[in-house]
Amino acid sequence: MTHILHRQIHGTLPVAVAGRGVELFDRDGRAYIDASGGAAVSCLGHGHPDVIGALHEQADRLAYAHTGFFTSEPAEELADMLVANAPTGISHVYFVSGGSEAVEAALKMARQYFVEKGEPQRRAIIARHQSYHGNTLGALAAGGNAMRRAQFQPLLAETQHIEPCYAYRHRRDDESEEEYGLRVAQGLEDKIQELGAETVMAFIAEPVVGATAGAVPAVPGYLKRVREICDRHGVLLILDEVMCGMGRTGTLHACTQDGVAPDLMTIAKGLGGGYQPIGAVLLSQAIFDAFATGSGLFQHGHTYIGHPVACAAALAVQRVIERDGLLENVRTMGERLRSLLAERLGPHPHVGDLRGRGLFLGLEIVEDRATKAPFDPALKLHARIKQAAMARGLLVYPAGGTIDGARGDHVLVAPPFIVEDQDLDRIADRLGTAIDEAVAD
Ligand code: PLP
Repeated sequence: MTHILHRQIHGTLPVAVAGRGVELFDRDGRAYIDASGGAAVSCLGHGHPDVIGALHEQADRLAYAHTGFFTSEPAEELADMLVANAPTGISHVYFVSGGSEAVEAALKMARQYFVEKGEPQRRAIIARHQSYHGNTLGALAAGGNAMRRAQFQPLLAETQHIEPCYAYRHRRDDESEEEYGLRVAQGLEDKIQELGAETVMAFIAEPVVGATAGAVPAVPGYLKRVREICDRHGVLLILDEVMCGMGRTGTLHACTQDGVAPDLMTIAKGLGGGYQPIGAVLLSQAIFDAFATGSGLFQHGHTYIGHPVACAAALAVQRVIERDGLLENVRTMGERLRSLLAERLGPHPHVGDLRGRGLFLGLEIVEDRATKAPFDPALKLHARIKQAAMARGLLVYPAGGTIDGARGDHVLVAPPFIVEDQDLDRIADRLGTAIDEAVAD
């Protein structure tokens, strides 16, 4: 009997006791290939000696010093590194402890920016259906999953949701990907005009949608047009790279592949690789300047911002990625994994789409490939695939999303960046069998 309230009340979970490389082990001695890095978190795998060394050393020297009194060496060094490698225009970093906190802080930064600039009427947030930005109230309001929001709606800030960029379902046969991208981006401009640009604060989007839809990348040109529209109307662009960022797609930030730089960017998960809870907001010089010349501070804060041990762990993770050239591995292994999955599952009657970038791949499971009709949501197929995979020693992330109002089944595959060829074979093989078993049940 557990006294921990997990999200799911019923059912027992295995007890994880150890992790090494790409594998996790439970108390009964079962091994699992961590092919989703948890939820796209464990980018370096488990038990990495360099990170553990850095953690020990920092905990030994200084575990905690409140940011009201001090800054710390690991926080300063990590911020320098993040800014040096950030998209154009980013000048500062605000540390938090996870993704939801990062989104929350980014939304507040956007609001304060306009207050400082004397435009307090700008407060509308535009976000997209089929998106996930976290579970705290601001982040939940922005997220596009109506089911998650429903019971908390009275507590949520009003947010406008527009169509996501979701070519598999929404691109018409008579349009190219680029044409589709421009058409769907136009939905943002239409919404801004409908609300009145002078009332709109920010547009928030994931460059590659993760938790709700299994690695759906923006089509070429979409984000560039979004950037243009935001600029035209003075609206801030917040890119949420909590899941798809920090190397997961093969470049440090997913949005550089789209040739776009945001005003605010949220990162977490792969930043600390699961070794410590840490997230951050990257903000532009213009936003920093508005605070600096205005009230002189950002009206926010948490006890653990810039936590020295968390920053030391993240710094070690990012240094290993850089030193070992792991982004190159993400690109080559990502291509190989995609080919293996295409070979094993491409012709599968219930695999409608295989998509993603780098080591951030998603499968969409449908009842009928021709019509793209999803399975009956009551079957909870994504959860069944997860269970079948676990029984075979494989961890993949089941993404339950909303497809045109109906719940859909998606599987996210996001193994650690250190993954090797023989792991890829086992992942494709076990996942193929798990999907066969789950749909046959
Ligand atoms: N934003 C995105 C894109 C996410 O995928 C997530 C988590 O899955 C979050 C925000 C929330 O992050 P956290 O769970 O660390 O609060």
